[in-house]
Amino acid sequence: MHALMRETSMENPLLEPRLLPHFTEIRPEHVEPAIRALLEENRARIAELTRLPEPTFADLVEPLEDMHHRLSRVWSPVSHLNAVVNSPELRAAYNACLPLLSAYQTDLAQSEPLYRAYQRIAEREGAHLEPTQRAVLEHALRDFTLAGVGLEAERKERFKNVMLELTQLQAKFEENVLDATNGWTYPVREPFELEGLNEVIVAQARRRAEEQAAEGWILALDQPTYVAVVTDAESRALRRAFYEAWSTRASDQGPGAGRWDNSAVMQQILKLRHEIARILGFASYAQYALATRMARSVEEVMQFLHQLGAAARAAALKDFAQLQAYAQRPLEAWDLSYYSERLQRAHFSVSQEELRPYFALPRVLTGLFEVAERLFAVRIRERTGVSIWHPDVRFFEIEDTSGHSVGSFYLDAYARPNKRSGAWMDECVGRKRLKSGTVLPVAYLVCNFLPPGQGRPALLTHDDVLTLFHEFGHGLHHLLTRVAYPSLAGINGVSWDAVELPSQFMENYAWHPDVLQRISGHVETGAPLPADKQAQLIATRSFQAGLHMMRQLEFALFDFRLHAEYDPARGARVAEILAEVRHEVAVVPVPEWNRFAHSFGHVFAGGYAAGYYSYKWAEVLAADAFAAFEESGVFDRSTARRFLDCILARGGSRDALDAFVEFRGRKPDIRPLLRQYGIAA
Ligand SMILES: [Zn+2]
Repeated sequence: MHALMRETSMENPLLEPRLLPHFTEIRPEHVEPAIRALLEENRARIAELTRLPEPTFADLVEPLEDMHHRLSRVWSPVSHLNAVVNSPELRAAYNACLPLLSAYQTDLAQSEPLYRAYQRIAEREGAHLEPTQRAVLEHALRDFTLAGVGLEAERKERFKNVMLELTQLQAKFEENVLDATNGWTYPVREPFELEGLNEVIVAQARRRAEEQAAEGWILALDQPTYVAVVTDAESRALRRAFYEAWSTRASDQGPGAGRWDNSAVMQQILKLRHEIARILGFASYAQYALATRMARSVEEVMQFLHQLGAAARAAALKDFAQLQAYAQRPLEAWDLSYYSERLQRAHFSVSQEELRPYFALPRVLTGLFEVAERLFAVRIRERTGVSIWHPDVRFFEIEDTSGHSVGSFYLDAYARPNKRSGAWMDECVGRKRLKSGTVLPVAYLVCNFLPPGQGRPALLTHDDVLTLFHEFGHGLHHLLTRVAYPSLAGINGVSWDAVELPSQFMENYAWHPDVLQRISGHVETGAPLPADKQAQLIATRSFQAGLHMMRQLEFALFDFRLHAEYDPARGARVAEILAEVRHEVAVVPVPEWNRFAHSFGHVFAGGYAAGYYSYKWAEVLAADAFAAFEESGVFDRSTARRFLDCILARGGSRDALDAFVEFRGRKPDIRPLLRQYGIAA
């Protein structure tokens, strides 16, 4: 068996120990054998470790950290290639591994022998370990507990079954939304009804009609079409029809009333989430969710949201009055995007498309790197001769002032076929510094910008520039870490409501006048962005910000109260809580038949349950952190060093609130965010 495994690894580029993956050598047929071999090896090793009579941090935790590191290092290029150069063969190989990895992770999370070993190590060695090692133990023990390992047999069984049922119900929720979305179309016979819509949407609608051998056009309810209609359609009737269909999806109202109704699914999801929390000893699902977050308590989150709501209410009312005055009519829910778009155009003569010639990617990159170099005393230089997956990909090394490498990253900037849309930072290699050796972190930065044209570089909108700064912020968090243990290095183990702090923090630089001067240069004349355009661009940041804030708060309060106030005797009270929340924060009239909750996938289908507040939470942290720089100068070295030492370098090794307080000298304050949006002076 061992001989066979060694032979596989000799021939499999995924299993060869190398500093960087050899992307060009990785073939779909390498994937499953590599993962199977590695998982088998890990399982055998873990079985040995759990038989240790007196486990210690050094001979149990360290090897486990090493194993996780190796597995993620082997899997990372596979999932990355699947996302950026997808092919049917690679997708099949990738999908074949998902259940293997998931079973492995579940087995580890639910392993009682491992749990007991960690407990014994914490008891015996806890007091003598260094803080980061203690944090490794605490995180692991917390995750074991939340996975239900410590429960007695009957409750454990129930826990597993409820978890499984929840997964199925959440999938059912998504399916209903999808079916309801696909189940509605709008036929158009007269061209005047399409007035205002862009050519792409109209051409799509024409093609859809042709496919069904119908006259005219057929508009579907997909998101781009919905957004285009409510933003641009001159026909108020069309906007209303789309608004109604969209905001009643999967409910008892609207054109598809009762066909894919999520009402019962939502009740059941909330009931089971509450049960999960109770089994683990929490009072509510909200409390359970907070066990891994920066926010300390249900009261703290509620107070945070109420405070923002109270502060932004006046601004939101003013925004709405301004919109109403501009429209010269009472506004209904289906008029908002339409008039908001027109008002924006009337106010600001600068458009995203118009800004492109000023933001050539090479110049923006140079400016972005300068920001990082000035702040964090590093140098970023490009390196060639590294194996890449596409000729457009570039590779950069980050060095400290004495010329030692601290990490490196790939940049895959342009959209192309078979590449997933959106932008993200991901871990290629995590940092570790263990007895087995030291490995430096490597990141992927992936964007989907318009590629360069003939004889000219890629030109970005300011939104693109923000995206680049954002992902680079995540990259710095991963690359500038000094944590030795992979499970807490970089973004690993960071509280989920704090993980967007470095990324949103970096966005602030892309709004700063000095930086805008440095990163802009007209592609033909080289002239930086003119002062008037720059001022207008900066002003767009606060446009209708009060209204936007209240809308986000409505979602956040609704989500959080649903999970904090569930009462088995009264059921989920979805409609009641929504009505109460709207009474508190809604500024814009909402029709009685609106059932937005029935398609609120963020919350009911998974990810953001009792977590929607995190968007605003992280924004407050980022704005408040940046305010520290504004107070001392945005390039102040000592502030930057503190930010690096307290936050960027610490990864998940320290409680996120303690880390923030150490940096800022106090708890987070909402006022810098309100200032940033022009909501408060
Ligand atoms: Zn992000």
